[in-house]
Amino acid sequence: MGLLLKVFIPLLGLALAFYFYSPPDNFSEEMLRGKRVIVTGASSGIGEQMAYHLARMEAHLLLTARTEAKLQKVVERCLELGAASAHYVSGSMEDTTLPEVVVKEAENIWGGLDMLILNHIGHSYFNYFNGDVGHVRKLLETNFLSYVAMTTHALPMLKESEGNIVVVSSMAGRAASPFVAPYSATKFALDGFFSSLRLEFIIDKVNVSITLCILGYIDTENAIQAISHAFRGTPAPKEECALEIIKSGVLRQRELNYPSQGLGNLLLLRAIAPDFLDSLIRSNYKVENIRR
Ligand code: NDP
Repeated sequence: MGLLLKVFIPLLGLALAFYFYSPPDNFSEEMLRGKRVIVTGASSGIGEQMAYHLARMEAHLLLTARTEAKLQKVVERCLELGAASAHYVSGSMEDTTLPEVVVKEAENIWGGLDMLILNHIGHSYFNYFNGDVGHVRKLLETNFLSYVAMTTHALPMLKESEGNIVVVSSMAGRAASPFVAPYSATKFALDGFFSSLRLEFIIDKVNVSITLCILGYIDTENAIQAISHAFRGTPAPKEECALEIIKSGVLRQRELNYPSQGLGNLLLLRAIAPDFLDSLIRSNYKVENIRR
């Protein structure tokens, strides 16, 4: 009883306070006008929607992904929507030379950079871990190491503009989820690397913000196709998600939890009752629909 009073009740109070607290929203679209922004994974899904929001806000855009035909269409649409300028570089982030090529292109076109939005992911499977270590290695290259490389090359320009780095991660990078072991590993790695970097920036007085976006289930075509048969949740809209990511980045927030601020409490729950959290997560899956 003593332990309950001393530890659990204050923690519960703290959790509820976090749950109901929403940070003040001082966002205005002008904040993005004329800003020079790189968006990775911009040919579809959330990345494509971020490009359209940024275009409406009259930002300069450099988009990247593998499929050139899709990027061309997104760039055209961005120009129609009002982008100050819109360019693309096509290529795979499995190719270790691509991050430098993309950042150099920004330097050549604009001579600087204000915001780096890291959002792309390579293809993985939604099933029991199949023992393919090569796949995990490849996915780490695409989903993690290329984020590190993009940041490294972009940092001199971001330091000059006192800009923003936005890292798109997932619930699966904060609390373990089944059937996505390789993907989950790459997303946890992002948290470790970028949270460490943020601390170094503060110590070193580097005025570049790092926003880590912890996303739940979002209604992109690829996500629905991959998990809707076995996941019980209702997906949140990609358009709103994309806008929230941009806002959190320009407002220099440390973290975005979308769709619910309550996602932030997972960490607390993991510390207090990890087995309970695991059972909550397991209950979200229709395991019978996973075929090995
Ligand atoms: P999509 O699959 O819709 O888009 C992925 C993007 O990455 C596409 O533009 C794709 O374009 C590009 N891409 C794929 N492979 C490569 C590669 N090898 N090199 C470079 N680019 C590549 O993803 P979402 O929009 O659903 O997700 C966006 C972000 O949000 C991701 O970081 C994801 O982890 C995160 N997220 C999404 C959730 C969801 O439910 N949708 C949930 C939690 C997090 P192309 O094929 O042309 O290369």
